[in-house]
Amino acid sequence: MRVTLSLLALCLASSALAAEQFDDKFRQLDELLPTPNTYRTASGAPGHAYWQQRADYRIKAKLDEAKRQISGSEEITYHNNSPDTLDYLWVQLDQNIYKKDSDARMMMTAPSQDAWAKAKTAEEGYKYEGLRNVLTGRDFDGGYKIAAVKSPSGQPLRYIINRTMMRIDLPVPLKPGEKLSFDIEWSYNINEQLVLGGRSGYEHFEEDKNDLFEIAQWYPRMAAYYDVMGWQHKQFLGSGEFTLEFGDFDVELTVPADHIVGSTGELQNPDQVLTAAQRDRLAKARTAKEPVLIVTQQEAADAEKKVSTATKTWHYKAKNVRDFAWASSRKFIWDAQGFKKDSTNVLAMSYYPKEANPLWGKYSTQAVIHTINEYNKFALDYPYPVAISVNGPVGGMEYPMLSFNGQRPTKDKKTGEITYSKRNKYGLIGVIIHEVGHNYFPMIVNSDERQWTWMDEGLNTFVQYLAEQAWEEHFPSTRGEPRYIVDYMRSKNQVPIMTNSESILQFGNNAYAKPATALNILRETILGRELFDHAFRTYAQRWKFKRPTPADFFRTMEDASGTDLDWFWRGWFYTTDAVDISLDGITEYGIGTKDPEVEKAWQKQQHDALPESISDQRNHLIPHNLDNKPELKDFYNEHDDYTVTNADRNKYAEAVKDLEPWEKDLLKQGKHLYLVDFSNVGGLVMPLILQIELKSGKKYIERIPAEVWRYSPRKITKLLVTDEEMVGLTQDPFLETADVDVSNNAWPRKMTTSRLELFKQDRSRAPDLMKDFNAPLKGAEKDGKESAKDPAKDKAAAETGTK
Ligand SMILES: [Zn+2]
Repeated sequence: MRVTLSLLALCLASSALAAEQFDDKFRQLDELLPTPNTYRTASGAPGHAYWQQRADYRIKAKLDEAKRQISGSEEITYHNNSPDTLDYLWVQLDQNIYKKDSDARMMMTAPSQDAWAKAKTAEEGYKYEGLRNVLTGRDFDGGYKIAAVKSPSGQPLRYIINRTMMRIDLPVPLKPGEKLSFDIEWSYNINEQLVLGGRSGYEHFEEDKNDLFEIAQWYPRMAAYYDVMGWQHKQFLGSGEFTLEFGDFDVELTVPADHIVGSTGELQNPDQVLTAAQRDRLAKARTAKEPVLIVTQQEAADAEKKVSTATKTWHYKAKNVRDFAWASSRKFIWDAQGFKKDSTNVLAMSYYPKEANPLWGKYSTQAVIHTINEYNKFALDYPYPVAISVNGPVGGMEYPMLSFNGQRPTKDKKTGEITYSKRNKYGLIGVIIHEVGHNYFPMIVNSDERQWTWMDEGLNTFVQYLAEQAWEEHFPSTRGEPRYIVDYMRSKNQVPIMTNSESILQFGNNAYAKPATALNILRETILGRELFDHAFRTYAQRWKFKRPTPADFFRTMEDASGTDLDWFWRGWFYTTDAVDISLDGITEYGIGTKDPEVEKAWQKQQHDALPESISDQRNHLIPHNLDNKPELKDFYNEHDDYTVTNADRNKYAEAVKDLEPWEKDLLKQGKHLYLVDFSNVGGLVMPLILQIELKSGKKYIERIPAEVWRYSPRKITKLLVTDEEMVGLTQDPFLETADVDVSNNAWPRKMTTSRLELFKQDRSRAPDLMKDFNAPLKGAEKDGKESAKDPAKDKAAAETGTK
């Protein structure tokens, strides 16, 4: 490129004149956050005029096992508590994501032109499951068939369906404070979860020819309308989950008579659907010290063998929930145990097929109770009457009072031996803690999931980590410890945590692991456990059964802890910066005493400590003139530059004569002063955690707040004072800040130790057609199973932390 000299000169001149914009890491966040108002206050609490809508449901539904179809009718009563008059209502039709031409299906992309061609491993390549998902999706008759939308008197209501959303136009606008009821009749075909993915669906067991149904997003649900967003009717594309209103549910589920149903809510008609023995066992479970089997494995195995053509209707009621889900199968083993603490009084229950044992019988219900016990400490008292863990095809998914959890042991196809790996075991306990934990976030602290995945997944994964660590010491948590987020923080393909749910890159790391780790760092390193726990609990208490936004969380954490955390939210939630603090240089200063006896001796010591030059070393050996002529020596051969003179002593006496006593004391203290340079390479400002090691072997920590970077966010010089000589300094010695490069954290620098693995040279033979032709023929062997790649699987993988 050719640049004229004058233009270049101009450029240089202008850049020299303009002050570089100061990178203020502590700039207040208010200009990014919404202005506080009467609905949401500046302290992060709901305002005095806070309002939210309400939707009550009466649903009657039937599961057609043979057709794998659900049909139902519902009456929704919608309460307009807003100050606004509404001309229309929006309803969510999430099943429409299974339509052949759904946005979710149409917008799927492939990795690149040549990604599959270059694939060398199963991880890189396209899976059988992936192709089956695409091909089956093209044929599956999914999505809602809406039979009617009408007023209670039977008058049809005008509606229009916009993909996964339906707008119902009201004949008369709904004024503030009014409510209205309307009816919807619908049906849909249930997806085979292992083929089509998703957060619900059925699983077919070829061995006994039975199905297990996990049913969710199954009835048309009111979209949320709220002060910040208006109608939340962003399309359901697969990643951004659900934004819902609270209400009461009255649900009647008609299923095959030999099915066992697990459901959100309290069973209203146990006498009609349970045997006397089952009711008796349930009563015993309430006060039992360990889980009690309501349906034993033997009873479930017996039920698998025949199929009832009769039906039973299970009647449930659930108060103040934002959603309703259920599961149904004749394969279910069922156990239960009561748990009471403070205002919590809950029956913890698990439903699982025999294929889930022995893991499930041992751990599921125990994990449900453990979760509630721990989350109650950090958030709020579990308010619902039941808490359920269901095993089925879905890897991990949450609903009020009920969750789907996928981990199972492995059965050897040849020998039938059942074993489970360490990852299986802790994966199951972890996913149950996670999904049951979602009762708190977002089922009760009802954040807008369609907008912000981190508000429920991040907060929940954080408390999950705390609950896992309370299960057993050194529980192998995959998320929460700062050192485990380092690889992600170093990675290139990132977006900030504050990114819409559908636009997140590296979903599991971005929306689960990073916010969970950030909160753990906030708790352990920035605020301390006492201040943090109070603030976090305040947030849960303020926003239970309400809808918080990110600003409400940020503001509450600051308000209740009394700490300006704007820099922390700005760095961790609004940028993709990483922590990399480098210890660059260090200078030791002793305090000059001005006493020539001391100072000249010190100077001589410094001089003598210098290495002798190479010439001087060799010149020791050559003959010197003075050796033979000692008469040439004089005063200067006896006294070097470090000889103390009377003039020095007089000057010293003169200098200290006018000093105040405290000034004289300072000269004698003998403290060691160090100027240490730190640079902020990663961009994220963090506190300095300095481990100082003294000559005597004593080690101690000094914690310096992040504000040390306020005037100079890139490079600072810090004065350290020690009582004796310092021999080592380490920044972040316990790896608590997720520093992405610790090779620059210590003085003196520490050596990296590793292991060199040697490999055999590849001497494999060239293709030999004759040898291959003569090889004996073996029986064909089957491939192992791989998981399919689709958005819903991403969620399941993210939930179980396997991404
Ligand atoms: Zn989750």
